[in-house]
Amino acid sequence: MKSVKTGKNNKRKCSFCERSEDEVGFLITGINACICDICSTQAYEITRETLGESGCGRKASTRLNMKELPKPQEIKQFLDQYVIGQDDAKRFLSVSVYNHYKRLLQHNTKDDVEIEKSNIIMVGSTGTGKTLLARTIAKLLKVPFTIVDATVLTEAGYVGEDIESILTRLLQVADYNVPEAEQGIVFIDEIDKIARKSDNPSITRDVSGEGVQQGLLKLLEGSVINVPPQGGRKHPDQKMIQVNTKNILFICGGAFDGIEKKIAQRLNTHVVGYNASKGTATIDKNNMLQYIAPQDLKSFGLIPEIIGRLPILTYLQPLDREALRAILTEPKNSIIKQYIKLFEMDEVELIFQDGVYDYIVDKAVEYKLGARGLRSIVETIMMDIMFNIPSQSHRVYEVTLDYAKRQLEKTNLERLQIA
Ligand code: ADP
Repeated sequence: MKSVKTGKNNKRKCSFCERSEDEVGFLITGINACICDICSTQAYEITRETLGESGCGRKASTRLNMKELPKPQEIKQFLDQYVIGQDDAKRFLSVSVYNHYKRLLQHNTKDDVEIEKSNIIMVGSTGTGKTLLARTIAKLLKVPFTIVDATVLTEAGYVGEDIESILTRLLQVADYNVPEAEQGIVFIDEIDKIARKSDNPSITRDVSGEGVQQGLLKLLEGSVINVPPQGGRKHPDQKMIQVNTKNILFICGGAFDGIEKKIAQRLNTHVVGYNASKGTATIDKNNMLQYIAPQDLKSFGLIPEIIGRLPILTYLQPLDREALRAILTEPKNSIIKQYIKLFEMDEVELIFQDGVYDYIVDKAVEYKLGARGLRSIVETIMMDIMFNIPSQSHRVYEVTLDYAKRQLEKTNLERLQIA
C-alpha cells in the first residue's frame, strides 16, 4: 500500500536524505514518503529565507475560509448562550470579530481596497459582563486570544510590566508562531485605569497614565514591536521577537467609574437652547452610559489619539433584578447548573424550593453585590450542604427557602461587598 522507502531490516528512511530512522531524532510519515527532523528543520529554514518571517505562517491565514467563518448573527447566538442581555455590546463584538476575520482573508486576495481594522472599546460598570463576553468569544475564535489587565502596565523603566508584555502573552498563546500571533485578538481589561490622572496634559510624571497610553497607542495603530519572548523587563542580552500589530484586533474594556457625570454634563450643555425640551425629555437618567460618546472618554482622561484608534465604542447595561435572576439559572454554565452538576457527581439530585432564587437575587440587590455576588451568596448557602451530603445517603436533596434564609442570616453579607 504505502511506498515509503525502507532500508535494511525494513527500517523506514527519510525520503530526502535517506538516513534510516535509527540515525535521526524522529521521522514524520506522509502518504508516500517520510521526512526526518533534520530535513524538516532545513526545509523550514529555506521557506523562512525565501518567504520571509511572515511568509512562513501563510498557513495560518489560509486556515480561515469564508464559508466556515461564523457570521455575526451566529457569533451573537453563541454569546447569548452564556451572557445575559447586553445586546448592543454583543452585536458590536460580533460584527467586529467577523470583520476581523474578513480582513485576514482579504490578505489572500489581490484587491487593493484595504479594510482597516476597527478596535473596540466597551464601557460598563464592573461585574456587568465585559470579561465574560471576551472570554466567551474566545471559545469560538479561530485565532489566538488573550486577556491582559491594563492596571499592571506602566511606562517603560517603572515598576510594573512594560506595554510589550501584552504581546508576550499573545505569543505564548500562539505557541510563539509569530504570523499567527499577528492575527490574534487581545482584550485589554481595565483600560480606564490608565486614564490621565490630572487634567493638566503637561504633567511630566504620570507613570501609569499618559505615558502608558502613548505606549499603547503604538500597539493599537500598528507597528513592529520588539517583544521579550518570556515577558518581564527588557534587558540588552535578551533576544527579542518582532511582532507587527497591524492586524491584531484590540478589544478594550473598562468601568470608567464616574463617567456618567461627564456624559450628563455634555448632554446638559447640548440640550440648552435649540431642541432643548426634546433632548431632556428622552434622557434616561438611570442608564447614562447608553449616551456615551468619544468626547466623554476624553473628559475622563484618555488621550484623543487612543480614542481615535478605538473607533467602535459600545456600552454595557447595568444589571437589573430580572437580569440577575436570569444569570443565576439561564446561561449554559450558570451558577445553579454548576452546583447541580457537582451534586450529580455524588449521584445526588439537587433541587431548589420555589422562592430560593428570588431570595438570592433579593439579597444581591439589597447588598449591592451585583452578578459577582450571586456566586458568593449561593456558596454561603451551599457550604454546609456540600460538606455533609457526600457522606450521607441522600439521593435527592432540596434546598428550602427556610434553610437558605438561615444560612444567610448567619453570615454578614456586607463582607461580600466589593469595595
Ligand atoms: P466585568 O468584566 O464587567 O467587571 P465580569 O464579566 O467579570 O464583569 O462578570 C463577573 C461575573 O458576573 C461573571 O463571571 C459572570 O458570572 C457574572 N456576569 C456578569 N454579567 C453577566 C451577564 N451579562 N450574563 C451572565 N453572567 C454575568
